[in-house]
Amino acid sequence: MLAVKQAPATDAVVDTHCPYCALQCGMTLHGDGTAWTVAARDFPTNKGGLCRKGWTAAALLSAPDRLTTPLIRDRHGMHLRAASWDEALSRIVAGVHAIQARHGKNAIGVFGGGGLTNEKAYLLGKFARVALGTANIDYNGRFCMAAAAAAGLRAFGLDRGLPFPLSDIPGAEIVLMPGGNPAETMPPIMQYFDAQRLRGGKLIVADPRRTATARAADLHLQLTPGTDAALANGLLHVAIRDRLIDADFIAARTNGFAAVQRICKSYWPDRVERITGVPEAQLIRAAHMLGEAATAMVLTARGAEQQRSGTDNVLAYINLLLALGHAGKPHAGYGCLTGQGNGQGGREHGQKADQLPGYRKLDNPAHRAHVARVWGVPPESLPMPGLSAHELLDAMGGAIRGLLVFASNPLVSAPNADRVAGGLGALDLLVVADMFLSATAERADVVLPIAQWAEEDGTMTNLEGRVLRRRRARAPPAGVWTELQVLHALADRLGSKAAFDTEPAHVFDELRRASAGGAADYAGITYARIDAEDGVFWPCPDTAHAGTQRLFLDRFATEDGRARFHPIEFRGAAETPDRDFPYVLTTGRVLSQYQTGVQTGRVPELAAAEPRGFVELHADTARGLQVAEGDLVRLTTRRGSIDLPARITRDIRMDTVFVPFHWAGRARANLLTNAALDPISRIPEFKACAVHIKRVPPATRQEVI
Ligand code: SF4
Repeated sequence: MLAVKQAPATDAVVDTHCPYCALQCGMTLHGDGTAWTVAARDFPTNKGGLCRKGWTAAALLSAPDRLTTPLIRDRHGMHLRAASWDEALSRIVAGVHAIQARHGKNAIGVFGGGGLTNEKAYLLGKFARVALGTANIDYNGRFCMAAAAAAGLRAFGLDRGLPFPLSDIPGAEIVLMPGGNPAETMPPIMQYFDAQRLRGGKLIVADPRRTATARAADLHLQLTPGTDAALANGLLHVAIRDRLIDADFIAARTNGFAAVQRICKSYWPDRVERITGVPEAQLIRAAHMLGEAATAMVLTARGAEQQRSGTDNVLAYINLLLALGHAGKPHAGYGCLTGQGNGQGGREHGQKADQLPGYRKLDNPAHRAHVARVWGVPPESLPMPGLSAHELLDAMGGAIRGLLVFASNPLVSAPNADRVAGGLGALDLLVVADMFLSATAERADVVLPIAQWAEEDGTMTNLEGRVLRRRRARAPPAGVWTELQVLHALADRLGSKAAFDTEPAHVFDELRRASAGGAADYAGITYARIDAEDGVFWPCPDTAHAGTQRLFLDRFATEDGRARFHPIEFRGAAETPDRDFPYVLTTGRVLSQYQTGVQTGRVPELAAAEPRGFVELHADTARGLQVAEGDLVRLTTRRGSIDLPARITRDIRMDTVFVPFHWAGRARANLLTNAALDPISRIPEFKACAVHIKRVPPATRQEVI
């Protein structure tokens, strides 16, 4: 346990969940009158395990720079000064009214986060559409799981990260994991893969880096970033050629195989080797491992998804699974290893640009009518779908004149960050609600201090689709409000007729009614049931329903109940190496940091473990560039240039360099990344762009955070 110098008001023992990733490990917060401590809890997801981030989470409760009062930019625009809530809210409402009068209601944008509880994500969507009347709300989850969500919807008719509980993983003979490194991002999940391998199962990892997860795998396919669709098509080519496919399953439970079969004919192993860099022998071995297994899973993560072909990549892997008959049965199927804490629930209940609660669609008249009835507003008053996350940011200073940001830090997390900075600076009104003064909040006109994870009740939906309870351990510090209180107060001042409750339990009951009958149906889930049952899986249409741990066993969620193949041609990354930018830059995460580091960067142990960014490059590449360990290296793409210290390894492809994206400042990774969007999911291409690298002579060094 980690003792933290922050005395709880009274002794307290509170069962809750980690503030960070989508595994949502169970933990217990202990307050003994002198300090808060975290203890791991034997919850079904983490089975008593926590990673370093979870163990140290209590330190967030005593962070010295916690925001406890609203801040307003002074009239010279130079500084943020303390203000009362009344003044801050008045400033926001005056700014909103001025923008709406001049530019219309859609000129206000709302940017949410995948860390918001279901209650907050739901109320934020309602606030945008009803109180602000804007179409333009989206969230940072668009940067994470959107491609997997779009592919799941197209292939299976429903998007849920995992269509089965984690406990099914050990029963899979083979797991193929493209672009995932959970050994570093969510270590406790590795116990499921360890159990799988103890039972004789095998793990295949596809990743440009030999990560901790790849090292634990039986086979590592070290592909070039951006080539997943070619790899998946090549695997299917071999499976078809070597008669490994399951013709009975294809005939009984799917549509559209013939077109996929035609496309895959040209993905000969030697061609796929040239595209992906994966040796032909490894490709054939992987295809046989998958094709000869009785059960197999494909679990994608950001490496395969954060590409301009992200949806295609996932669909190509799903084609492979369907052709092999590894779906719609126990211990088999496709899943996405969701990243953000409530990345799943956050995309189900209305903070996505095109969606209403319960996965209802804004452009469906029946869906609009149902939700409008719950909200007590005319259906025609609801806006139509708005701009996706990156498009919303890209429109700042143009069609978007005001932006309200909740639980997000787009200045660090969005691609092509200098362009985002310019857009933020061009706004007439920027409002940021956060616990700490994030890089985005530093630029705001109004900053609102809000409660953090252990200071409020609510629900989260983890990567399995299991709805969990986050419990309040202590009251927020004086001066701090919850987001529900903020939305209530703003809606009131904006003259909204609809109700905006401040009690999480009441908001959850309203969410249940709004989602009832929808694809993500929470109608039967109650706080009491979550407590009694270690979480409840959606869909759960009524309180007598057990919840749905496993989807698709009898039928897929498409109209005819059959899964759909999609013919996918490999397109590759928007930028490929050339003479000027001869390497591939890929970005990602490290064990001791989470997202943009606004929270984990304030935990002393985590900050000490990984205090700044770095660039990882292959030893032979480094030698060719005369770069030694620790040397400053300048990375330049078509969007910008940053300097980072080198970490030299043999665990990355020679043509690829890796930069984690957790840190703000002039060395942040997203100054370099390409905002090329996947046309279906609108996810940006964080994982591959062309980069030039050179050693920086000491005299020309830039700031390194
Ligand atoms: Fe568990 Fe994720 Fe928290 Fe680590 S960060 S303790 S894996 S929920």
